[in-house]
Amino acid sequence: MDIAPIESASPSLVARLVQCGHQEGLRRATPESIRSSLPISDASALGTAAHAVLARVLKSTDSRISDDATLRQIWEDAIDTQYNRTDGIRPPGTWWRYNVVRRGTFRLAKQLVVDIERLQGTASVEQEVRSDDGTLWGRPDLVLRYPDGSAEIVDFKTGTHDSGPPDDGELRQLMIYGFLVDAVDCAVTRLKIARVDGETWSSAVTSSQLQSAAAEALRAVDQFNRALPDTTSLARPGDACTFCAQSLGCDVAWTGRIPASALEGRVDEAYVSRDLSVISVRTTNDNSIVRLVGVPLDVVPPPGSSIRAVRLGKQSPGQFQWQSGRSRIRVS
Ligand code: SF4
Repeated sequence: MDIAPIESASPSLVARLVQCGHQEGLRRATPESIRSSLPISDASALGTAAHAVLARVLKSTDSRISDDATLRQIWEDAIDTQYNRTDGIRPPGTWWRYNVVRRGTFRLAKQLVVDIERLQGTASVEQEVRSDDGTLWGRPDLVLRYPDGSAEIVDFKTGTHDSGPPDDGELRQLMIYGFLVDAVDCAVTRLKIARVDGETWSSAVTSSQLQSAAAEALRAVDQFNRALPDTTSLARPGDACTFCAQSLGCDVAWTGRIPASALEGRVDEAYVSRDLSVISVRTTNDNSIVRLVGVPLDVVPPPGSSIRAVRLGKQSPGQFQWQSGRSRIRVS
């Protein structure tokens, strides 16, 4: 399949390109009809819902928007919308960190409403900004503009993070937002990250630092476009592979060090009863036989087929366990 070159990149796309350009190549090689029908992860649903709540509260002009009862209703609506995009196996209340993110989102929403009320300037929420030539664009969570003509970019984060400064990817995204606002709106002098777990980080920034980050972003886009149609050379196997949505189709990852939670091989035998499946697999890497227990009955691969499976539980050196809602398998 032909992959169209990237003409305009958002900060999150740049982050994906820097992490592993091949991931983006494989993603774009998947037809849009399949891509849009794939369920999103619980973590992604939770993060998107939290962002939607914050945006809705901050865009509102109704002072009662941050009342507990109103916040609860907005939260429920946002969670319902996102839950419908998941595989629907686990109810939202059981999602990892659900209560932490919910509490933190309410706290952050209330605090930001007060901050914006006291602001001697203007605030914009999720307003799209584009570079003059259109090659970069983004929608920063919050831009605070002060009377002296300076601006601060605030990015909300809902995932887990060790305390301290942002990681490279987070900082890169924030810098690109900063570059865009600085280039087309007003001078950005400060960047800030507000995490729903209560931590905040902020730092002064200069125009030249923002321009360097934008130049690095455009280099990543250029590198991707030059690699087309085959992005294999941009693969960066590493920690990101464990949760990579493209891992089943990524040959590079399977020729390197296969994570302990992944299995590749040929099915030797498949045993299926009314409610249990056990398959024996001869592994590709050392030709040993291992068992994979609990593959859903409708996707149990027939003997002789080749499989790749990821995000499995390992019960013992010779046995893997299918993990409902997490594990994925490709049969060929
Ligand atoms: S599995 Fe790893 S190397 Fe392959 S596309 Fe994903 S992140 Fe990149």
